Amino acid sequence: MSNTSSAENSPVLTEVLEANKQYADSFGDKANLALPPARAFAILTCMDARLDPAKYAGLAEGDAHVIRNAGGRASDDAIRSLIISHKLLGTKEWFVIHHTDCGMQLFTDEIMRNLLSTSLLTASITDAGWKNNDESGGSDEAKFISFLTFTDLAKSVTEDVKRIKGHPLVPKSIPVYGYIYDVKSGKLIEVPDATKAGVAG
Ligand SMILES: [Zn+2]
Repeated sequence: MSNTSSAENSPVLTEVLEANKQYADSFGDKANLALPPARAFAILTCMDARLDPAKYAGLAEGDAHVIRNAGGRASDDAIRSLIISHKLLGTKEWFVIHHTDCGMQLFTDEIMRNLLSTSLLTASITDAGWKNNDESGGSDEAKFISFLTFTDLAKSVTEDVKRIKGHPLVPKSIPVYGYIYDVKSGKLIEVPDATKAGVAG
C-alpha cells in the first residue's frame, strides 16, 4: 500500500491508518472469529459519536451485530440489516437504543429541507435555530428524504420497536428490548412501553 497525497495531507486519515497499524499488530487470535455473532444478538442504535456500543453493552469483536444510523431509527435499511442478522446469521434478541440529547431532536424535515435547498455546506445552530453560513447553491432533493426526526425520546423508541415487531419478515419469536442511553451517566434506561411492545410471541 502506498501513501497518497491525501494521506499526507489529512491528519485524520494519517491518525486512523496509524491506529489501525497498531490494532493489526496486536490482532491476536481474532482471525479465528466466526462470521455469525457469538452471543446471537443485535443492537440498533444512533451514530452519535458519544455512544460506544462495544463499551456501553460490553461487546468484544465477534459478539453481536451493531446497526447504526442517525437516531438509531427503524428505517427500511435498518430493518433490512436486522432481517439478515436473524435469517442468515442467527441473532435471536434485538435491542433498540436511542439516547438523551440526540441531534435528531434538534431539527425537522422542513428545517433540513430548507437548509439543504440553499446550501450543502455545514450549517450552524444559533439561539434562533439552524442557519446556513453561506448560500453557495443547494438542492431540493431532500424533499424526497424522510430524516426520521423525533421530539419524544421514549415514544421514538417505542415506535421503532413496534415497527420492527410488526414487520412481516420479522418472526414473532424475537424479543426486542427498548432502551435510552443517558449521555450524562452512561446508563441504559429501559423504556417499559417499548419492551412491552417488543415481547416475544
Ligand atoms: Zn443521536
